[in-house]
Amino acid sequence: MKVHLIRSEGFDIEDFNNVLNLLKATKGTIEFVPSEPIILPEFENYINFEDLKSFEKKGMPQFSMNESMRMENRVFPMKTPVFTWEQLFGICKDFRSDNNIPDADHVMLLTEQANDLNWFGAIDASMKNYFIHTADWDHYFQNNVDVRFPITYEIVVWLLRSMMFKNRNEIIDNIHENAQGCMMDFCQNKKEITIKMRTADLCPSCTSLITKKDIRKNYLKQLFDTMESIRKNLLFRQRSVLLNEPSRLEIRGYSKNIFLSDLGDLQINLTPKEKTLYLLFLKHPEGINLSYLIDHKLELTAYYSMLSRSGSPEQVETVISNMINYEYANDISIQFSRIKNKFVAALGEFGKQYTIEKVGDKHKIVLNRELVQFID
Ligand SMILES: [Zn+2]
Repeated sequence: MKVHLIRSEGFDIEDFNNVLNLLKATKGTIEFVPSEPIILPEFENYINFEDLKSFEKKGMPQFSMNESMRMENRVFPMKTPVFTWEQLFGICKDFRSDNNIPDADHVMLLTEQANDLNWFGAIDASMKNYFIHTADWDHYFQNNVDVRFPITYEIVVWLLRSMMFKNRNEIIDNIHENAQGCMMDFCQNKKEITIKMRTADLCPSCTSLITKKDIRKNYLKQLFDTMESIRKNLLFRQRSVLLNEPSRLEIRGYSKNIFLSDLGDLQINLTPKEKTLYLLFLKHPEGINLSYLIDHKLELTAYYSMLSRSGSPEQVETVISNMINYEYANDISIQFSRIKNKFVAALGEFGKQYTIEKVGDKHKIVLNRELVQFID
């Protein structure tokens, strides 16, 4: 079974890739296929959020206002452009016909644009086209990279619904209006989803409903495994900060891509130049004095020529010479701070264990190397 994930242009590519990594971290026969980004048509409709409450919800219930502190940058009433559901499903349908997607495949649009009913995700009458709203999750998390968890959760829940129910009316009939701590709760606000992700559970009546349906067990297993990995990742993140236990770091394949494996394969995207320096310092836990960087020229050259695929030997030579030349020390500190920003963006203050820091007269990565693994 294939699920095509389409990204609308405004949904950040790194977030999109992180969602995909999280989905792909679980083995199974549901294959998630990323697409080229899609440019959405012009807006025709607007929604007017009277206040914070209406912004956070599909419906009416009260919501604790202590979350509002992080909303300073939003002023209500707030007018936001929206698409209708039919417009969003229309984008899925166009994608199908433009790309000759078989009817049996599922197509999901991941978009930062809101919809007229302010839902976080929905399915069309064919039960094969979906949209997932990717924006505004940052409001509920301190750390931006965590937005991949609710987005992935929504993807899995909607796939599960498409397997459990024949049509949309059946979904509405069976979904729990009052929260049961079940994946099939009709979460009226996003806050509820952030709590539900920590349990990743189905209530007894949904469990019995699933057993009565003819759903392939390997699909179910994969979806539940993904839920479980979201849950574990959230717990790991909490605990690791508490106990000061960082995630394992994996360097994979020929491209030496960097993954935090205990955090749902969160990928840290470094440029070839940044990665070249990072690999050098990773391989030298004792640290390196920058004035002696020249001693590592061969090693740096080997990494960079492997990582910058298009670079000619002359270009590689120029980049590495500039890197080790002390006159260009500024260039190196720019690289260090870019690397640092990427880790800190992903891990908060905790990220500093992974970055190249000055300790005495040397620069080093302090991370315990037992947590580091190279996988070819
Ligand atoms: Zn249930």
